[in-house]
Order: sequence, then C-alpha cells, then structure tokens
Amino acid sequence: MDAQEIQAATAHQAAALAAADAAWVNPRDPAKALGPDGRPAVSRRAPIWEDVPDEKWNDWRWQLSNRVNSLEEVAAVLNLTEEEREGLSAPDKFRVDITPYFISLIDPDDPDDPIRRQVIPVGREHEAFTAMMEDSLAEDRHSPVPGLVHRYPDRVLMLVTTQCASYCRYCTRSRIVGDATQNFNSRDHEAQLDYLRRTPQVRDVLISGGDGLTLAPKLFEKILRGLREIPHIEIIRIGSRVPVFLPQRIDDELCAMLEKYHPLWINLHFNHPNEITPEVSRAVDKLTKAGLPVGNQSVLLAGVNDCVHIQRALVHRLVENRIRPYYLYQCDLVEGSGHFRTPVGKGLEIIEGLRGHTSGYAVPTYVIDAPGGGGKIPVMPNYLISYSDHKIVLRNYEGYITTYEEPETYRKHDSSSCRYCQHERPEAGQSGVLGLLEGERMWIEPKGFAEVHSRGNTEAHRLQDPSKWVPFGVGAIEGTAGAPLKVIETGSVAGAGATSDAAAAPGYGPGEEPRPREGEPTASAHGELL
Ligand SMILES: *Cc1c(COP(=O)(O)O)cnc(C)c1O
Ligand code: SF4
Repeated sequence: MDAQEIQAATAHQAAALAAADAAWVNPRDPAKALGPDGRPAVSRRAPIWEDVPDEKWNDWRWQLSNRVNSLEEVAAVLNLTEEEREGLSAPDKFRVDITPYFISLIDPDDPDDPIRRQVIPVGREHEAFTAMMEDSLAEDRHSPVPGLVHRYPDRVLMLVTTQCASYCRYCTRSRIVGDATQNFNSRDHEAQLDYLRRTPQVRDVLISGGDGLTLAPKLFEKILRGLREIPHIEIIRIGSRVPVFLPQRIDDELCAMLEKYHPLWINLHFNHPNEITPEVSRAVDKLTKAGLPVGNQSVLLAGVNDCVHIQRALVHRLVENRIRPYYLYQCDLVEGSGHFRTPVGKGLEIIEGLRGHTSGYAVPTYVIDAPGGGGKIPVMPNYLISYSDHKIVLRNYEGYITTYEEPETYRKHDSSSCRYCQHERPEAGQSGVLGLLEGERMWIEPKGFAEVHSRGNTEAHRLQDPSKWVPFGVGAIEGTAGAPLKVIETGSVAGAGATSDAAAAPGYGPGEEPRPREGEPTASAHGELL
C-alpha cells in the first residue's frame, strides 16, 4: 500500500465509524430516553391539562403562572381526603402553590403518594410539638445584614428571594419563604454584596432562598456578576429546587448565562425516586454540560422516604443522572414539620443500609442542622469499634471485624517547616478543638466563643445567652431560660460533677465507674440538655 491508499483506507474507516456512531443511541443515558412514540420521553399530565399545547406546557413561564393553590384547583387534579381539605382550607397555612408539571406526577387516588405528602397540606401540620421553633437554625440571629447568614468562618448563605417554584410543607424557612411582603429586593442584594466585599474571609457563597432560579434571569445574573467582581470569592453555589418542580426552567439560555460565572456548583433537592422524570434527566444533563457539578440534598421525611429501600432507589437514580448525593438532613424542628419527623435512629439505619452496600458515590452524609444555629453536624453509624495505642478495631458493612495496626514509629508532621502551617487561618472554635488535642485545655467551651465574633457579627455566641436559643412551646430546656448555661470547667472534670460533699466521700471504689447518684444531675453539658 502506498501513502495515498493508506489515507483513503483510514478515511473510509473513519466515515464508517461516524455513520455507526450517529445511528447509535446509548440506551442507558436517561437524558436520551424515548417514549413509546419514539420521541423524547415525557411524564404524565393530569387530565385537566391534556389539551394544553406542548409549547405552553414546556414553557416555564406558563407553568409558573398556572400553578394551583386553592382547594378547588387542587381538587380538580386529586381526589382529596378529609384531612387534606382541612389543611387546604386553614386560613393561616404556609403557602401552597404547585406547578402543573409537579402535581401531575401525583397519583390522584393515593393519599400516601410521596410527592403529594411533600406539597399538599394536611390539618395535622398545624400541631405543635416539643422543641418546635419558628427559626430553628437561628438564622436571623446570625445575619449581619438581612438575608445573609454568616455562620461558618469561610462561607455564607445568601438568601436572594423568598419565592419558590412550589412550596414544601416542611420548609425550614417557612417563617419567610412564600411571603411576598418579606421578599428581598435589589437594595438588600446590594447590602449583602457590600458585606461580602468587606469580609475577605468568605471564599464560598451559597445562593438560596427561597429559590434564586425563580428570579428574573437578568436579576439573577446581576447577583452573580456582583459576586464575581469580589476577588476573594472562590466558589459560588446555588441551592435550588427549580429543576425538581419546574425542569422546563433549565433552558439553553439559562445555562449559557450560568456558564459565564464559573466556578459554579449546584445542589438540587430530590426526596423520592418518583421525582426523577425524563424532563429532570434532560434538565440535569444541560446543567452538567454547562460545567456545573450537580449535587443533591434530601430531607428525611416520615411517610415519604423513611425507608432504606426507597433511599437506595433514590440515590441510584441520582447517580444514574450524574447527581451526587451530598447531604441527607434530619428534619428540622420547625413549625409544620411535626408529622414528618423521624427518630435519628432511622437515618442511621438508612446510612448503614447504604454504606458499603452500594457505591460510595451514592452515599450522602447524614447531618443534623444544629438547633440554635451550630451548623451541620454529621451523624455516623459506628464503624470504629475499639482502639488502643497500637491497634484500632474496625467493622465493615457486613459485620466483619478487622484491625488496623498503628505505625510503630511516626515522625510527627513538622509545623515549623510547613509552609501551610505557617499561614494557618485563625478561626474561633477550631483552635479550641486543637487546644484540647494538644492538652492545653481541658474543657468543652471552644476558645473564642465568649469573645465578640471577629467576623463582623457583633453578637456574642449563643452559648453566652441561652435566651437566644431556647425554643418556644414546650422546649426541653425551657426551665433554664435566662440563666447562663453551665459549661464544664477544668476543676469539675475530676469530680465528675458530684457535689463537694460527694467528692469528699466518693461513693465508688477503685476501678468502679463514677456515677452520679440517683436524682443527681449528670456531669456533662449533654446532661443539662437532656
Ligand atoms: C448549609 C449552610 C452552609 C453550607 O454548608 P456546607 O456544609 O459547606 O455545605 C453555609 N452556611 C449556612 C448558614 C448553612 O446553613
Ligand atoms: S424549595 Fe426549599 S426554600 Fe422553597 S419551600 Fe421547598 S424547602 Fe423551602
């Protein structure tokens, strides 16, 4: 063969491959799923919208302006139960508004439908419960300017609107969400940006609300641009349920706009596999093609997803759509969520049923957002079952027990020659934990909590003022409102909280566990709360 022949043969081969490629459709890609008619798959439409032309149905503006909210409108789509009628006719209920697309996914005859339970109120949602709070995460108190929650040292939550595409009955921010009179406007956005310009320790901004993607595209872009003009902001994250309620909104124009403001991440909020439709798959495909890593945050909800099999199906559907499960939240202690709450043990059971049993990519971190505003606290099943100075004992997902031998010699990391250690960022709280490890301190009040926060929030830490985080209603620590919370100090550790009397004559012998006497308070700060 001469060079010309080889060239011709390669060209022919390439053309044949390209032709085969063009005809081949990946049957496993959910964004390319086809319906029975050979056209892109679509989900079910409720009969009352059967005659709406596709252009309208697929137009997010039509979906938003045709949301259902009154009892009559909902009753035209679903066969309502008595308690749903009661919920929908309550005069002071949290806002109801559901896109035609989303309500169509509900089985009209199944009162336990998992999508239905998330958006249709029931009479019970008004029942108060122990430790219920209006602002259970104390967001308002951690806001240096309206709508900006600065709780962690390097990142903030920026609430840009109170509006959502539809409303979840268990919403953590039901105190403001859905209320047009409490909405944030351009002046608020400017004040938030101004705070961020003045606060160089913030490197990560999480845009939420409400739902930023319900804003007029130009207004949303203005916020992104304002953030991108601040040099110390490294990443911007969007928390949105728009792709769940209104996947039609994720169009090429929006993605082209978002692409300009990288690095940009997005977290969605799916709770049940029924929410992942062909429309969602195509919307998420667009987001990933625009370069946004897509995550998911779920809320653990009784009657919706409090089951390891549902959760497994959910995370598998997510990963199949290239959505990474990020957090599984314990339900917050917020008004309206009482009937959705599960024990923490349920969440632990779910994580145990996932970890090791399926891909690590598919396992979210289970967190409790600390009531009173302490941030997200991970809750983990125990895989580390014992340890000594030379060995740790571990258990795997099957219950198989193994050990890991510690190194006999370990040359400690040399902070004095480490460039990263030399440029450590001082943080209240973190130095407290390190101090405990290094043996400089013994008690559990982290360093810096008593001082005025350096990050512009001039309020002392909540621990200094219990009245700030005592829940209303029948809160567990109601009795101590106004009195300073006890913090264990060095001196009380040895005596294990016993009275001076008991310390003089210990009620236990050598080798016995010191225990508080019957009726005596326990030694720990946890004891105070329980
Ligand atoms: C959740 C949250 C964040 C972000 O937390 P990550 O754990 O980094 O995802 C930041 N600020 C506030 C107030 C939050 O509630
Ligand atoms: S989408 Fe988020 S902010 Fe909006 S109602 Fe649901 S939980 Fe609340």
